[in-house]
Amino acid sequence: MSYKCSRCKRDVELDEYGGVRCPYCGHRVLLKERARVVKEVDVK
Ligand SMILES: [Zn+2]
Repeated sequence: MSYKCSRCKRDVELDEYGGVRCPYCGHRVLLKERARVVKEVDVK
């Protein structure tokens, strides 16, 4: 599944193991590439 970081605009590949954040800048709001829906994830 492909996402794009809403801060640094880089492509982010996410897996299902929970670490949902941009690996480049640490931002937690990622844009879903296809649907263009903002995905906000609470990291617990
Ligand atoms: Zn980023």
